[in-house]
Amino acid sequence: MYEQNHLAGRLRAASIGRDDAPFLKNHQTGQTVTYGAFFANAECMAKVLADHGVAPGDRVAVQAPKTQAMLELYVGCVLAGAVFLPLNTAYTGAEIEYFLGDAEPALLVCDPAKEAALAPLARSAGVGAVLTVDAREKGTLTEARDRQTPGFEAVARGGDDLAAILYTSGTTGRSKGAMLSHRALASNAQTLKEYWQFTSDDVLIHALPIFHTHGLFVATNVTLMAGSSCIFMAAFDAERIRDYMRGATVLMGVPTFYVRLLETEGLAEATRGMRLFVSGSAPLLAETHDRWRAVTGHAILERYGMTETNMNSSNTYDGERRAGTVGFALPGVEIIVTDPDTGAELPLGEVGVLEVRGPNVFSGYWRMPEKTAEELRGNGFFITGDLARIDDDGYITIVGRAKDLIITGGYNVYPKEIELLIDDVSGVAESAVIGVPHPDFGEAVVAVVVPEPGSAVTEDAIMSAIAPALARFKQPKKLIFRDELPRNTMGKVQKKELREIHGDLFEAG
Ligand code: AMP
Repeated sequence: MYEQNHLAGRLRAASIGRDDAPFLKNHQTGQTVTYGAFFANAECMAKVLADHGVAPGDRVAVQAPKTQAMLELYVGCVLAGAVFLPLNTAYTGAEIEYFLGDAEPALLVCDPAKEAALAPLARSAGVGAVLTVDAREKGTLTEARDRQTPGFEAVARGGDDLAAILYTSGTTGRSKGAMLSHRALASNAQTLKEYWQFTSDDVLIHALPIFHTHGLFVATNVTLMAGSSCIFMAAFDAERIRDYMRGATVLMGVPTFYVRLLETEGLAEATRGMRLFVSGSAPLLAETHDRWRAVTGHAILERYGMTETNMNSSNTYDGERRAGTVGFALPGVEIIVTDPDTGAELPLGEVGVLEVRGPNVFSGYWRMPEKTAEELRGNGFFITGDLARIDDDGYITIVGRAKDLIITGGYNVYPKEIELLIDDVSGVAESAVIGVPHPDFGEAVVAVVVPEPGSAVTEDAIMSAIAPALARFKQPKKLIFRDELPRNTMGKVQKKELREIHGDLFEAG
């Protein structure tokens, strides 16, 4: 019934004949949902979509709290041949208006609390219907689901057909909708399942948001494809996660998860039965990696990916998980580093722009052919905009974002090089190095430093510690102390915000 649908067939394969096996333990209700019950609900969701006129290829936009019903809706979309379009729950009405106008979805699903504000926007964007679901799974969407009976003939879809559009967080300019095909999602989940050795015995702690590639595709698709189960949490909660670890095997997190978990008591004992800790979406400090290992005995496995490409590289399961690196290109994925000016491939050891090619790579930006042509080469390589280095032994290190590159007095400065040195100074918790406008140098290097709690580390102490290792032009012209760095929900430091706050440091006068 599912085989003619490329992605649905693969998500269901491991649980056929195992309908009684657990798929999800709902953290809020305490109920365990079996594979059979989950897919039955997803089939009902597919019928709801069809009833509301959603045709194959139509977009279904969703801005709703993280619930099991949203996962059912995702799989329901795949079954119906529709394109799932999840939106960050933090987006405002004005932002949603842009996405609705750009994607022209046939249906919008939102939190009932936002319906009054969003329904008029949906109407003017020509969206056919609005359904609701709240954090307790109440709303017109789940009511309509419960009126259906399971059983749905999956709409035939091939590898090239679209399964989802995810808007990139877009730190500059308009957000772009990354079009993800059935093949891109299915092939990546299959690769990760094998690379990280997932089996039906695994129990994943799922505490990531599901409007983003990490929680939606990496965590959910890998669990489904392996026939594993997950403990499904609405949000991150360090103490609860620590307690759940006693009955789990894998945690997937962003780096801040690990930093917060390290502050909990009893971590060594709680992690004893765990098999794997994965980190990604933002750089994991080597110091966090080392502290985690010292406390728990486990080496966190860091991987690297992005909305447009799914996962590209990973440290290995059996080999050395090297702190500060993102491991090797995944099987079937090619990674090269190129000169930012000429696009020529660079030798090992040199820093350049990371480019990636493989079945995991997206199909282009929704209705933005020029943007697509700028970033996706004719030969299939996607220009990620990340700056990276591949060492002689193949380990890949992400050095920063091309747009965070600082050009001061004509010299290129990679913030990461300076951040690593500052982070090593005793009394420093972390740092972010940015470029701000400067009348003489074009841009000046500025370091924003977060001291460890109670530390009295000074500007002089930091400067004298790092200066011997840095050419004069790389040394920060100014150090700014802050209690914390601004971060988004995926744990990414918001350098744009820092540049805005500190943009006038060197203004004339
Ligand atoms: P997103 O599309 O929101 O998932 O963001 C993707 C970006 O996150 C990548 O282009 C990288 O800049 C960053 N990123 C993801 N994983 C890592 C990692 N392990 N280390 C460093 N940066 C990462």
